Amino acid sequence: MDASRTGRKHAVTNSMPLRKALHTADDLIAAGLIDRCDRAAIESVGATYAIALTDTVVRLIDRDDSEDPIARQFVPSRAERETRPEERDDPIGDAAFSPVDGIVHRYSDRVLLKLLHVCPVYCRFCFRRASVGPGSEAYLNDAALEAAFAYIAAKREIWEVILTGGDPLTLSQRRLEDVARRLAAIDHVKILRIHTRIPCVDPARITPDLISLLRACGKTVYVALHANHPRELTAEARAACALFIDAGIPMLSQSVLLRGVNDNALTLAALFRAFVECRIKPYYLHQLDLAPGTSHFRVPIAEGQALIRDLQGRMSGLCLPRYMLDIPGGHGKIPVELGYLTARTMDGAYDVMDHRGRIHAYEPDL
Ligand code: SF4
Repeated sequence: MDASRTGRKHAVTNSMPLRKALHTADDLIAAGLIDRCDRAAIESVGATYAIALTDTVVRLIDRDDSEDPIARQFVPSRAERETRPEERDDPIGDAAFSPVDGIVHRYSDRVLLKLLHVCPVYCRFCFRRASVGPGSEAYLNDAALEAAFAYIAAKREIWEVILTGGDPLTLSQRRLEDVARRLAAIDHVKILRIHTRIPCVDPARITPDLISLLRACGKTVYVALHANHPRELTAEARAACALFIDAGIPMLSQSVLLRGVNDNALTLAALFRAFVECRIKPYYLHQLDLAPGTSHFRVPIAEGQALIRDLQGRMSGLCLPRYMLDIPGGHGKIPVELGYLTARTMDGAYDVMDHRGRIHAYEPDL
């Protein structure tokens, strides 16, 4: 993913200041989240993959539970040092579909606009973990941003722009307003979609001013919330989501199927029901991408299909997201509940059909 970072620069003025956050092994030891004897191992993980936990996330962690699903998502572990042969820095092949820096144009009617590589938290299973994190190229610089706007303006088939990164709501409101205004000026762009974890991990950042600036752009705005466990939907998170929805900004959910976090029907049912109760439509449950050092989170597809089948039998259809796989190598995202997947061998390899009807191999070494 390094090539996709060309043209980025450190620009602290682009972002809102983070409230107290934990970033280092020593921070985690001081907070009682890792043992002193793990310092060297976690420092070596932190040298490769960024670490950040907001104070909201730290407060959510149950220190009496050694397998707490919140801690598992955000506290780094020794297991991240093991990279399997099938894992890769760019697991969904974004780089091959990046015509200019910051843009991923894989499907004709929509683009990703990756404005930054910074997040308020760094999920230990992140599919972009090889590229997200603070540093010298954390934000798309002005020249690269101009080139991205020019690309979108020149491609009349682009109906939707998905702001992602990193977490775009980490940007300052001034920067976000500027981006929204520039995109709003492009006639054929009708939809802005924002992918974020902030309503759950730092809900105080969702303010009436932020809502006003998104509404003022004049385009239809959707917000896709990333959350994986029902405990993430605290009263504060629910209030933050209500600010969007009450203002006419619909919300969708995105979750990742994760071993030790939500790999059972009861937890998934509670999560999806909590979304619907918050007026958030469950949209995607993602099969975990083959990002480096994440095999301890991976759930076999057959197990995920069984979970979805189980949920279909017990839940309102309103609560059910699509179960999705991003085919390694950049071949696109497809639903894998049924019909698109054929077991090729008994060892977990599959033939997978992409959105164009072509067959590809999926060969995780589980
Ligand atoms: S918030 Fe999203 S981009 Fe950031 S670390 Fe988590 S999964 Fe990755």
